[in-house]
Order: sequence, then structure tokens, then C-alpha cells
Amino acid sequence: MTAFMSAEARDAARPASADDAAGTGRIEISGVTKTYPRAGRDAVRDVSLSIGAGEFMTFLGPSGSGKTTMLSIIAGFITPTAGSIAIDGADVGRVKPHRRNLGVVFQQYALFPHMTVRENVAYPLRQRKLAKAEIDRRVNEVLELVRLPALAERKPAQLSGGEQQRVALARAVVYTPRALLLDEPLGALDKKLRDSLQREIARMHRELAMTFIFVTHDQEEALALSDRVAVFNEGGLEQVGTPTELYDHPCSRFVAEFLGESNIFSGTVDGGRLSCDDGVTIRLTDEQAREPGQASVVIRPERVELLASDDDPAPDGRCRARATITDILYVGNRYRIGLRFADGTVGSAMRVVGSALPAMPGETVDVAWSPEHQALVTR
Ligand code: ADP
Ligand code: MG
Repeated sequence: MTAFMSAEARDAARPASADDAAGTGRIEISGVTKTYPRAGRDAVRDVSLSIGAGEFMTFLGPSGSGKTTMLSIIAGFITPTAGSIAIDGADVGRVKPHRRNLGVVFQQYALFPHMTVRENVAYPLRQRKLAKAEIDRRVNEVLELVRLPALAERKPAQLSGGEQQRVALARAVVYTPRALLLDEPLGALDKKLRDSLQREIARMHRELAMTFIFVTHDQEEALALSDRVAVFNEGGLEQVGTPTELYDHPCSRFVAEFLGESNIFSGTVDGGRLSCDDGVTIRLTDEQAREPGQASVVIRPERVELLASDDDPAPDGRCRARATITDILYVGNRYRIGLRFADGTVGSAMRVVGSALPAMPGETVDVAWSPEHQALVTR
């Protein structure tokens, strides 16, 4: 029976007493808006989102899209103008930040400079008045978790940026909060350190099995780390989904353009195709062709194949288009071929069958893809 129930239906059917079994750290955001006086638009506008216990959720969006405001509302540092936050089923609107039992890490490490690493990490436990032996035990445990035991007696000034951020992570999880909120924690680090700390954060998430809410404007970081990603645009939630859902089925041009590269054709849906400028037409699936009107077709470069020659027949049902090669880039183990189509669309292809490239920059080629792999968006 349960196999046929939606997740919502299962949650509704679950008795309240089973909440513990479902794990802690469920966060329910309902209709949250934050308006600042005299601001042009809402900092956050009508955001509703359910975050599951133990989920790795990322807030992704450009600068100014409302990510920090939303995270600060969950943490309790900012009071929303409308809407509510519930943690594990209980409204926390009147609960002070330090009583929400959430760990918080920001871009600036904010460690106490006069304290050693060990003292910094022990601080939240001393605040909570735990026994000395218990404090020592827990501090040693989280120092192991972030792989810093050897540096326990150093002061923050004697650590690199990446090490300081690992101390901040240790301090944020040492009292086993219900969830860990991270606001661009890797933003101040160089690329190599960022990559290694990304892996550390993914490992910490697995080992702690704790809810993580991670804020970033870096789409690669979001796709690499997250169970689900919430895309923010001008204060509103644009789309929520797994990395693959967002990449393969963006709901708007904004999401398509913000997450990775794509070929985006704009035109009018009529009959079974999208008609663009200068005679470019894109074949649509029956489902995509349902609603006539203005729309765009998004197709990812990994799905676009460069055909070897003009008379290379594209198999039945595939989309086929002519393009001029703008540039060819060898990226690690494959080529990225820059394309310009007759209607002015600029995009790229990543599929080259066979080892030799059939053409050079400036030459015209045919490309093909399956319409099932494209997404039709109307905004
Ligand atoms: P992000 O973290 O995605 O970069 P923020 O949540 O910091 O975005 O900001 C969202 C919007 O709210 C921005 O337009 C910002 O200028 C505005 N904003 C943030 N804090 C304040 C404030 N205290 N007063 C007025 N406007 C603010
Ligand atoms: Mg921010």
C-alpha cells in the first residue's frame, strides 16, 4: 500500500509519536516574506519549502537574491514580515536564536582570536555548562571529524583560512544541533582549498546524518554537494529539485542559464515545432507541443552531437540544425564546440562521435539531438 502513497500522504498518515523515528531537523518554511521599509522589492517573497531530516539542501542564487535573508530568518536573527518557520513540527517564531538549537557557519570564521582551537570548539559546550570530562570527549570527537587534532593547541592566527573554517565547522556541530546552516562558508577560500573543503563538508554530512542548509552562488558547488537545490531569484523561489532535475528539466530560462551551459532557442510553438527566426525550427515532443505560444527550448551541450558530414543522416525523430563553429576548446577528456545557429542562438555541443573533429572554427556543421532531451520553458 505505502508504495502508492506520496511522501506528503505518508507524513500525514504517520502518528505524531513516530516523529523521533523520522529523525530530527525537519524544517518547514511557510509563506515567508521579508520587506524592508523603502526597499524596491521584498528581500524574500512568499517562500515555502519543506526540508527533510538529514537532507542536504542548498540555497542557490545570484548575489542579492535573498539567500542570506532566508537563512537568517531560519536561524532567528531576522524576524519575517509574514509567514512562519517550524522545526520538527513546532513553530519557532517566538524562540530566540540560541534556543533553536541550530549550528551556524558564515563566510567569516569569527573564531575567538585569544583562544586555542580546543578552547574555541569547547566554547558552546562550556556555555551549556556540560561537565569537563564530557566537554573533552566531545571536543576530541569533533576535532577528529574535521581532521584537526594535531592543531588543537594553536591559536586561530597560526592557522590557514581553510583550517580556520574547519574549526568553525567543528564549533558549530559540537553540541549536536538539529541542523547546520552554512552561509557561503567556502567563499573566502581559493579554488583548490574550496574543492577539498567541499569534500570534507560532504563527508561530515554523511557521518553526522544531520540536516544541512548550505548557501552558495556557485552552481557547480550546489550540484556537487546537494540532495536538493532551491534556486532563488529576486527574493522568490524559482525552482526546487535534485541537481539532475534542475539540470535536465529547468522550469525557466533563468534556471537554465544559471545552472551550467545550454543552447536556448526562442520562438513560437505551432503544430509540433518551435519556429524561430531565419527559418530555424525545432521539433517538439507531443507533450511539449501541447500549448501554442511564445516559448524557448533548452538543450544541454552534453546532448548535442556534431554530425560528421552533411549527408550523415540523423536517425528518425531527432532534431537537426545547422550551425557555424565559433571556437573549439579541449576540456580535459573531451571537446566543447562553440556554436552559432542561423537565428542568432549561441550555444555549444559536447558530443563528438569518433576521434577526429569534422570541422574547424568558421566552418558550418550539422548538429543533432533527441527532442526528449530538451526542455520547453515559457518564461
Ligand atoms: P544574498 O544573500 O542572496 O546575496 P540577501 O539576502 O543578502 O541576498 O539580500 C536580499 C535583498 O535584500 C538584497 O536586495 C539586499 O540589498 C536586501 N537587504 C538585505 N538586508 C537588508 C537590510 N538590512 N535593509 C534593507 N535591505 C536589505
Ligand atoms: Mg548572502
